[in-house]
Amino acid sequence: MSVPQPLAVDHELVGAAAEVARTRCRGDHHTMAAAARARDGRIVTAVNAYHFTGGPCAELVLIGTAAAQGAYDLDTVVAVGDRDRGVVPPCGRCRQVLFDYFPALRVIVGNGDRMRAVPVAELLPETYVWADHQLDDAG
Ligand SMILES: [Zn+2]
Repeated sequence: MSVPQPLAVDHELVGAAAEVARTRCRGDHHTMAAAARARDGRIVTAVNAYHFTGGPCAELVLIGTAAAQGAYDLDTVVAVGDRDRGVVPPCGRCRQVLFDYFPALRVIVGNGDRMRAVPVAELLPETYVWADHQLDDAG
């Protein structure tokens, strides 16, 4: 049995998120940046839209931003916090949404020597798979 190799970290992608976090995040509205590598190689970036009613995280804005640019298949995603907080792992809601949209997605987590790319499913042990629990209309 082969040992799974660690997935290479897309440092250009981390740099893109860090640049947006450094230059575009301001005040309390925009505190997180996210970047995704689309399947076709493009990089898409977004920031969160914080609001106490549940404004979306940067990862969720990123999904819509990518779609608006015709990028429907994302390969890797990373989020970086403002004020030099570095890579921030996705919250529970985002893990579930990212998994449901892109089951093969890789997520960059950790900082410094511990930065690594992991399959989104690894961030959700005993994952709830929404599609497995929908009634079969054809039945
Ligand atoms: Zn989130």
